[in-house]
Amino acid sequence: MPRRYYTRGMELAFDPIPLPTLAIAGADERYPVRRVYCVGRNYVEHAKEMGFTGREPPFFFMKPADAVVPVEPGQVATVAYPSLTKDLHHEVELVVAIGTGGQDIPASVALSHVFGYAVGLDLTRRDLQGEAKKLGRPWEIGKAFEQSAPIGPITPIAQTGELATGPIQLRVNGATRQSSDIGKLIWSVPEIIAHLSAAWTLAPGDLIMTGTPEGVAAVVRGDRLEAECVGCVPIQVIVS
Ligand code: MN
Repeated sequence: MPRRYYTRGMELAFDPIPLPTLAIAGADERYPVRRVYCVGRNYVEHAKEMGFTGREPPFFFMKPADAVVPVEPGQVATVAYPSLTKDLHHEVELVVAIGTGGQDIPASVALSHVFGYAVGLDLTRRDLQGEAKKLGRPWEIGKAFEQSAPIGPITPIAQTGELATGPIQLRVNGATRQSSDIGKLIWSVPEIIAHLSAAWTLAPGDLIMTGTPEGVAAVVRGDRLEAECVGCVPIQVIVS
């Protein structure tokens, strides 16, 4: 049997799963994913539809890196309808990819830590998340399941410039479900990076899902989701 090495001299008991990676628009190289941070309730109208005022300080949760489903340029990705839920929700989000890590990054220099941007879906087992909230339990069962983070190719910030305003949209089977503007983020991308890096040391490969606007709703098997965000490569995902 061939020996497996992590690094020279360190033999592995079994093959590790392949590193999750995302396409980079216009490049052959890929973006290796380390962590996926998510911001909760970051648009006022979505906070309201979830029963909050929208004025709370930002809070974060995570998805495992291998929850990422890379949507390749020009291709339609397929995700399996997950187990246990009867209420799988779409949440379209601007995704920020970190290129330079750091701790306690001030908002004023936060953009220099950004590698690029993508559009993604924070798929949510809403019924299980709701139950967890009610019982004061962690959110992983509602948020951090397999294939819960389809994300498109990353467009480098060198091409887009700062993305601070512009449309973000989600259509299901051609009908618009979510339509807003990233200028309506309660906490801007630089502010999110400042808050997040106070709590965790950011590193290259970290993705930040910045929160979803209003209009979240259920999807069913066979639905075709089209997500778009200003400056980002649009994506298509089918739920099977
Ligand atoms: Mn979300």
